[in-house]
Amino acid sequence: MSPDVSPSPPHRLRGMTQLEMESLLDTNGFERYRGRQLYQWVQRRGARSFDEMRNLPAPLREWLAENTVFGGVESAETLRTSSDGSYKFLFRLEDGRKVESVLMPDPKRGYWTQCLSSQVGCAVDCKFCVTGFNGFFRQMRTDEIVDQVLYARRHLLEDQPGANYRNLVYMGMGEPLLNTDNVLRSIRLLIDNDGINLSPRRITVSTSGILPGMEELASSGLNVKLALSLNATTQEEREEIMPITKKYSLVDLLEFCRNRQIGRNRVTFEYVLLAGFNDTPDHAKQLVKLLRGIPCKVNLIPFNPSTLLPWQRPKTEDVEEFSRIIREANLTLSVRWSKALDVDGACGQLAGQSRQRGGSRGMDLEQKPRPEAIQKSLGDLDFFATVTSDDDENE
Ligand code: SF4
Repeated sequence: MSPDVSPSPPHRLRGMTQLEMESLLDTNGFERYRGRQLYQWVQRRGARSFDEMRNLPAPLREWLAENTVFGGVESAETLRTSSDGSYKFLFRLEDGRKVESVLMPDPKRGYWTQCLSSQVGCAVDCKFCVTGFNGFFRQMRTDEIVDQVLYARRHLLEDQPGANYRNLVYMGMGEPLLNTDNVLRSIRLLIDNDGINLSPRRITVSTSGILPGMEELASSGLNVKLALSLNATTQEEREEIMPITKKYSLVDLLEFCRNRQIGRNRVTFEYVLLAGFNDTPDHAKQLVKLLRGIPCKVNLIPFNPSTLLPWQRPKTEDVEEFSRIIREANLTLSVRWSKALDVDGACGQLAGQSRQRGGSRGMDLEQKPRPEAIQKSLGDLDFFATVTSDDDENE
């Protein structure tokens, strides 16, 4: 486990398990069962101050205030709500860095899905992603990842009591499988029955294709879902938009998906349709060929155009033809047109806005966007729900 995942020192409560809290209190002369109470305040109820913890004796609360910190996010700016009712959070971390998260509703099914960040910046450099070309700054710690959930859930329930906060996707800033220590640990905390208690089947980890991380996830025993951001049907084309393919080849990624399973779930292949690059009938046929024999779902995401970026959204008839070929091959398919054109929920955009406003340090101010800046459209809000929803219908 990397050093910054360690709860000690300092003891960052938001990243600690119940056992760790029990041991901490035990070794410092308090009754062990107080650790369970503390855990419930911190992880189940999402307490943000020791004063809230009314069933803990005053000396213990004082000791906690002197010897521990909550950790997590320091503050959040809820930027605005789009016409579809989504919330967007720009979280400020203790070192002044900023990461983003989006919480979106699925009015049809009546639940909410949150997209989490897992790194500050990203080293993977996908050519359709603002976060990628801004570069990598640091891993997010477990407490920071978990606290995005607690903060957003509390905000939602205060705003809309009774709202059904349900699905999570690791699809915000960063490549989650290059931060597996903290991501896997955060998932364990998020699904803990005594804590936040989310269903693992409603958690999706989305990757650009980091094979060792995919292997680690498969071996973890966690029954979560995997989404692989595919976006091309040949090694050459994928290398062009996702240079990581030089290290982990398309063939090896598909081989993994064919032979390994994450939990009991089908893998989702994300495919952003970029006009004139990967959206022809031949690409669709090639995709069908590549996915043959893999239990999977396909999510097509017609690119969401931007004046900043060279890519264009494909024509509707091209998307329809692409979809027809996929459907006729009996692959489970969703096509997600962004309906959130008035929001900036895509990966890297919220922190990017902050940079333009001069609103943050580090990543946002130190590096200038490169001219080939390409917006990531995987972050289309509608898509977040799609990844986690299909299996729910079959539950
Ligand atoms: S799409 Fe994801 S993996 Fe690729 S550069 Fe952006 S944040 Fe990193």
